[in-house]
Amino acid sequence: MKCYKHLSQIVTLAGAAAKDGRRLNPEDLHIIEDAAIVFDDETIEWVGKTADLPAQYQKLPFHRLPGHVLTPELVDSHTHLVFGGDRAEEYTERLNGVPYESIAARGGGILYTVAQTRSQTEEALFNLSVDRINQISAYGVGTIEIKSGYGLSLESERMLTKLIHRLKLHFSPKVQIINTFMAAHDRPKDFIDTADYMAKVVKPLLDELGPLKIIDAVDIFHEKNYFTTEDVKALKSVASKYQVSIKLHADELNDNDGAKLAADLDALSADHLLKVSDEGIASLAASSTVATLLPGTAFFLGKPLAPARKLLNAGAKVALASDFNPGSSHVDNVLLVASISAAQLKLNQAELWAGITLNAAHALGLKSQGAIIAGLRPRFSLFRAPGLAHITYNWGKNLSVTLP
Ligand SMILES: [Zn+2]
Repeated sequence: MKCYKHLSQIVTLAGAAAKDGRRLNPEDLHIIEDAAIVFDDETIEWVGKTADLPAQYQKLPFHRLPGHVLTPELVDSHTHLVFGGDRAEEYTERLNGVPYESIAARGGGILYTVAQTRSQTEEALFNLSVDRINQISAYGVGTIEIKSGYGLSLESERMLTKLIHRLKLHFSPKVQIINTFMAAHDRPKDFIDTADYMAKVVKPLLDELGPLKIIDAVDIFHEKNYFTTEDVKALKSVASKYQVSIKLHADELNDNDGAKLAADLDALSADHLLKVSDEGIASLAASSTVATLLPGTAFFLGKPLAPARKLLNAGAKVALASDFNPGSSHVDNVLLVASISAAQLKLNQAELWAGITLNAAHALGLKSQGAIIAGLRPRFSLFRAPGLAHITYNWGKNLSVTLP
């Protein structure tokens, strides 16, 4: 059993949890000042004011942590962090006014990353990914979702999914990794259409890997000129055989009824939503599907942001994630993304923190973390700061410290 005492604050998010992460006011953070907590490896036993610590815990050895803030664990619920090469030159070209279409036409863009990823050995990709995860962990992020999807062939996507599983074993339990199968990221040109690619690569590979129980979720790029509604339903039906939930890249480039489709299919999340319709917003609000916003992408590419306030006001459950990837959001720090975007998206402090803890955990199907309440799992982040306000106020300054 472990005990921390005299934390400047514990940010429990108990109010947010009680409201299922929706329609949050700043008070829903439920902050305890001069706080204490008792927990073992599996469960939070007790949380409250240090002065109120029950008698049975008084004799426990403890750590004194004044000047520190304990929050529910930061979760980055959307990354594509296993990739080879970089697209720094391409980013510069974009800044200099070259359209993505002409970059893609000469072999740049996602297909460049696919070629760079395929050219790496598994060991080299593993080591690159370990370095990236260590860096993300240093920001206080303890749960990271990782999607495959830069292989786009049977052999390469199989290797990537197994590699993400190796990463999961390597980092457990300190960093919890969620393995998302996203062979349906883009269609290589050697397939006639997406249905052909689904039939020859995505479905057979999921049928092969599903029984191994290493896949936590599946994801698909549902957009005009990419994967169709029929492709999404086909993916969902294969995933269901293995009790694996679906997530969707939805309504990013066009309003494609992706949000409604995600809600209808009981998806864990619908991600991006830059072009989501009012009908799509209403569908999400009436569902348990999390609306995951990825403001890093809009900042990186100079696009307008998603209609966060409309989603929140409608009662949707909103999460924020980094979308860390080499092409459209080369940022690995979800707290930085949330801190910068909160004012632009008009989020209050409870919406901001629920977006990168409670709701982000729910976007991964993790219902037993995301708040600091007795009975939940003891997954926390710790910051050297006098109060929560200082963490997001200090954009990009890393105040995270290792838990004692
Ligand atoms: Zn993505």
